[in-house]
Amino acid sequence: MISEKVFQQILLLGEEWRVSAVDYVEKASQVLIRVEDMPALWPTQSCPHCNARSVTGYDHAPERRWRHLNVCQLESEIVCALPRGQCKACQKVYTVRAPWEGRSRGLTQEFEAFALTLMREMPVKKAGEILGETDQKLWRALFAHVDAAWAELSWEDVVWVGADEMNRKKGHNYLTVFVDLVAKRVLLAVEGKDATVWERFSEQLRQHNGHPKAITQIAIDMSPAYQKGVRENFGNAQIVFDKFHVVTQVVQAVEEVRRKETRQDALAREQLERTSWLWRKNPERWTAKEQERWSQLKDKPLVTGLAYAMRLELQKAYASGTADQARSRFQSWCRWVRTEADALTSGLLEPMRKAADMVERHLDGILGHWKQGLTTAFLEGLNSLFSATKRKARGYRSTEYQIAMLYFVAGKLEIPYYG
Ligand SMILES: [Zn+2]
Repeated sequence: MISEKVFQQILLLGEEWRVSAVDYVEKASQVLIRVEDMPALWPTQSCPHCNARSVTGYDHAPERRWRHLNVCQLESEIVCALPRGQCKACQKVYTVRAPWEGRSRGLTQEFEAFALTLMREMPVKKAGEILGETDQKLWRALFAHVDAAWAELSWEDVVWVGADEMNRKKGHNYLTVFVDLVAKRVLLAVEGKDATVWERFSEQLRQHNGHPKAITQIAIDMSPAYQKGVRENFGNAQIVFDKFHVVTQVVQAVEEVRRKETRQDALAREQLERTSWLWRKNPERWTAKEQERWSQLKDKPLVTGLAYAMRLELQKAYASGTADQARSRFQSWCRWVRTEADALTSGLLEPMRKAADMVERHLDGILGHWKQGLTTAFLEGLNSLFSATKRKARGYRSTEYQIAMLYFVAGKLEIPYYG
């Protein structure tokens, strides 16, 4: 077995603590590292109540255990009855903190650091299986580190913010996630998707050394509630409607056209059968099968095909070099859509007309896309990031678990955090 002396060095115990015994428990395939305090401990202590450096040994608290890293593939634990000291100045008695203790009870710092490394790579459940620990215990460590590191974050440099709603479960339970578009990190996630979430973000911003007046650009979707919240709480910020959300709305309009056309026309129904995915993608993302389907459809007089061409044309406007060029392209797009919609007595292009109205109404915000250097790519990736977060928190559905995991994965926190 490895000697006490070696453990003394591995654990960096110094003069204040001593490994008194290392026991191998055969039945449990476990190594118990017994640690005792030394007289040299007391001169290093200062009273937690009055800060006086006049503490002497009083007695010992009951024995406790801390799970530590494995030793020669055996689970190891530090066992120690922590000493209690008494302050000569204020007479109060307190229990000395173990220098190896992590942020959550019953784990050493080294074990926590290793567990957090595993949790970065895999679901918490799986990390628990590998480490032979309950996932509840690992979650406690994760919460302790995330809470401490998140509270210490500085948001004083935050100027460009993005926000989006995330679906916690299908159809209900929304979270609004706020991100720093420059540093590409998640700042805050709160329940709800109404205007009040912006008030909560503003409060948190102040608590993290930021200021609502410092925010100059805010990228959001076109929800009226978000726009109201931004106007009420972030008066200096220009609202930017990001490309992803604009295009998504137009894609939905194309889908509506397809459904209407399918209902109205028996021949069209036959032609449009099982093509909904085709219209949702850009041509370069089509599979060979979809490509072939397109070549059969492209000469048919389908209104859905026209709506799809409109959507591609709108996307091209995003290739404009300047905001002025983009403005005139968006405007001529709106004119084109309306002309085609007017010409069609069937009303099939009405969803596209609505999309054009939407673009025109939000044009100033849409043109925020051309603000120098502003990129909303991080915002666009948020949905897949959130899905990954949900997978990692598998089995733990409550909001607090998902938020903690989101901060852990995408908050750029300093973790492990022993500050
Ligand atoms: Zn004291």
